Amino acid sequence: MTTTRRGTKVLNLGKDGAPLLRRTGLLGMVRSLRVSEVGGRARALVAAKAGNGGEGEYDYDLFTIGAGSGGVRGSRFAASYGAKVAVAELPFATKASLTEGGVGGTCVLRGCVPKKLLVYGSEFAQEFEDCNGFGWDKFDKPNHSWASLIESKNNEIQRLTGIYKRILDNNKVELIEGRGKIVDKNTVEVDGKTFTCKNIMIATGGLPFVPNIPGKDLVITSDDALDLPVMPKKIAIVGAGFIAVEFAGIFNSFGADVKLFFRGDKILRGFDEEVRDFLTEQISEKGIEVTPKTVPVEVVQGEDGRKGVVTSAGGDVEWFDEVMYATGRAPNVEELGLENVGVETTDRGVIKVDDYSRTNVPNIFAVGDVTDRINLTPVALMEGMAVAKTLFNDTPTKPDHEYVASAVFSQPPVGTVGYTEDEALEKFGTLKIFTSSFRPLKNTISGSTERSFMKIVVDSASDRVVGVHMVGQDSAEIMQGIAIAVKMGATKADFDACVGIHPTAAEEFVTMRDVTREVAKELTPAA
Ligand code: NAP
Repeated sequence: MTTTRRGTKVLNLGKDGAPLLRRTGLLGMVRSLRVSEVGGRARALVAAKAGNGGEGEYDYDLFTIGAGSGGVRGSRFAASYGAKVAVAELPFATKASLTEGGVGGTCVLRGCVPKKLLVYGSEFAQEFEDCNGFGWDKFDKPNHSWASLIESKNNEIQRLTGIYKRILDNNKVELIEGRGKIVDKNTVEVDGKTFTCKNIMIATGGLPFVPNIPGKDLVITSDDALDLPVMPKKIAIVGAGFIAVEFAGIFNSFGADVKLFFRGDKILRGFDEEVRDFLTEQISEKGIEVTPKTVPVEVVQGEDGRKGVVTSAGGDVEWFDEVMYATGRAPNVEELGLENVGVETTDRGVIKVDDYSRTNVPNIFAVGDVTDRINLTPVALMEGMAVAKTLFNDTPTKPDHEYVASAVFSQPPVGTVGYTEDEALEKFGTLKIFTSSFRPLKNTISGSTERSFMKIVVDSASDRVVGVHMVGQDSAEIMQGIAIAVKMGATKADFDACVGIHPTAAEEFVTMRDVTREVAKELTPAA
């Protein structure tokens, strides 16, 4: 692609896929050169002129569809590099649909943030129980107003959507309210109005997926669960991933009877096996009913407004106030106009991208959950920033998906970074495994039976720590610091050389000296 705008730089891929920098001179002469060949001075000059807007053949240098985490971050970084940027987003609503969404996206409006607020709210229940052991008079648990919590949560997400709008505004990113649809590779339509653009970034995220079973319309998803008018006393949650396990903890702590239905044999597929087993024990101990290999075949409406779950054809009906499905999320690509430009997707609608988040259409990029790489907010931020750098800062940047830490805000929470034992065994061949399970100091007199579990996975050959996992209080906070060391390539000897902070749970990570076991991959004998 070339541009007629004077002094504007455009990045394209050469035949070998390496980015090319094109610079249009005053006389309209176009010179192509490898980005790596561009000297610092030229780079600064070009960057200064990048996307100065207004005089070109396009309305925008970048048009982003979706103002969630990846879209906002990518847009504002692009604008900070001098690009003229617009972002289309639907009007605000707590529940997302084809016609409603809101600036901030899933994480801010109906995901991470409101979920964590509900986690905080629910955790007081345990604190009320724990305090007796520390000499506080025994007292009846105070009443909780679900309606008041939801109102506070809604006020907060309204505040946050306002902040996100201001971030766009302060960075001179134009917000266009409405549904963005790609008309051709340089045109986006928003509710009947068309805009031209040099590049498009799709950042439309995902929507809850509910399998097609009879009674599907009766169930709620995480969007609804975060905005229920009344706290259910008894709830069925279907699924065993992040969302299912987190909401099971929230409703359980608020006093609901919670039954988890899932098709696999353990919760949290993809996590370390010992973490899965340990968390199952802990949540079962708290009263969450864990039912593996059991999923509803039908959901029925009761006369009293309750919903019935049937788990085998012709089987008994079990009644609940709500049935929540947390069976994954599907990429939000409906009515996006991908077919108009031939952007390739998988059968599930996931947009296929290369290492630079570029689709098969060279000027169209996609970031975040719509690309189904690692579906986490900080990853979408990284991907959005990388696109902005690649396009507008003369720095072709691949997002780095290795050693991304994550947490499940279950109760107790899970923190993890790097490889599970099984993955590490497959990749590295021989491992030293260090584990520790203990009763946290607080629980020695709180009366709580909750325990913590920690695990370090070490590649025997290099001594590098390649996986760290924890189930227990503060594990998410602890893991963020550990993740820096793991990402930097710390060895077990480095961990051992670090002096602990006493008395904390975290110090256990630098004091585990005894190898729990050594494991080696069984080699298939050569034929
Ligand atoms: P998830 O973690 O992928 O879990 C989906 C669950 O639904 C799994 O238990 C899966 O079973 C089950 N499932 C999928 N299709 C099913 C079907 N047709 N019938 C029955 N069960 C089915 O997805 P999620 O919990 O919905 O979360 C969505 C995404 O949001 C995740 O990718 C996660 O990364 C992100 N998220 C992150 C956080 C966090 O960072 N704390 C919190 C919430 C969400 P199998 O395991 O057998 O496939």
